[in-house]
Amino acid sequence: MKSIVLALTLTLPMIASAAPSKKTGPAVAETAFGTLEGGGKVRLYTLTNSSGAEVRIINFGAIVVSLKVPDRAGKLRDVVLGYDGLAGYVQDRAYLGAIVGRYANRIAAGKFTLDGKSYQLELNDGPNHLHGGTQGFHKKLWRAEKVAGKGDGPGVKLTYVSQDGEEGYPGKVTLTVTYTLTAENALRVDYQGTADRPTILSPTHHSYFNLSGDPTQTILDEELTIAGEQTTAVGAGLIPTGKLVDVAGTPMDFRQPAKIGARIEAKDEQLVLGKGYDHNWVLGPRQRQQEGGVHKAAELFDARSGIVMQVFTDQPGLQLYSGNFLDGTIHGKGGVVYQRRTALCLEAQLFADAPNHPAFPSAALRPGQHYRQTTIYQFSTR
Ligand code: BGC
Repeated sequence: MKSIVLALTLTLPMIASAAPSKKTGPAVAETAFGTLEGGGKVRLYTLTNSSGAEVRIINFGAIVVSLKVPDRAGKLRDVVLGYDGLAGYVQDRAYLGAIVGRYANRIAAGKFTLDGKSYQLELNDGPNHLHGGTQGFHKKLWRAEKVAGKGDGPGVKLTYVSQDGEEGYPGKVTLTVTYTLTAENALRVDYQGTADRPTILSPTHHSYFNLSGDPTQTILDEELTIAGEQTTAVGAGLIPTGKLVDVAGTPMDFRQPAKIGARIEAKDEQLVLGKGYDHNWVLGPRQRQQEGGVHKAAELFDARSGIVMQVFTDQPGLQLYSGNFLDGTIHGKGGVVYQRRTALCLEAQLFADAPNHPAFPSAALRPGQHYRQTTIYQFSTR
């Protein structure tokens, strides 16, 4: 199999010789990744851009299995956690690299009411529902289509049709997620969804980033900026209380760059409840006022590699999860054991438990409406 991958990556750029000044041309290579117990064939899509950056995506869970971007010396580093093979992703309970849904984040007691009807979802996070359930979008086989050469760069378009009642959610939902690797080293994630009955939808991308490229090291020295002046305060079980709290004067203030580890152990009620950062930032007024476009939500910098990741999104919320529950039980890529806080997630989404908080941006999706999300992870160095 390796030789096929090699042959494809070597020959495709030569066929597509349209960009003579670049090292290689943009390409999408497709190979087998494994077979699911029920016989489903999982395919691996390798997207390469003209500067050599590379993202590997499988159509199981729409999972990003690796993301290689250049460090300040030009050497490629894989900046996301993952597993060596399909078995790891099938067994995974930490949502590594996946598209999670229908509802990213928590729903209190797994209950919500929509248009006068009540629904009960699976309780898979103590007494609450998390990330679409144990068999959410991250455990499904998606239909995949290569979109090489279209738009900004090579891409893969993944479609999943979630049936009425799946995981307790009402209505049939069709969700398309297109990953594009741009020529400027951005991984762009475009979502589009429709439903045939009123339902709720708020998926997110759940990569665990460690910009050092070395997941034996923690992310505590990485510097983070978040363009949010408030967080949605949480209570027990990380369920929002409904209150928006100013970050000013608290360890949640990332309006100026701060090391993740600088205040993570502070005696702060919110941090104690989250066992670290596991909170939703309300993206700044600029984001909320200018609808229909993406705005900068966060920036992460790792001095060891020089890699910078900027996150742009059109979503109202950004969850920072500092890998507090990674506990050394996951054997990841290359046999590396993932310890506490060796990666973090920056998840663009609606606020947690929005279906139970009428004042939060609504998660409802009704027939005739179109769910849309664009989130961009832009890589550079300094
Ligand atoms: C949540 C964490 C949760 C993790 C599951 C994150 O998005 O915020 O609380 O433990 O996903 O892997």
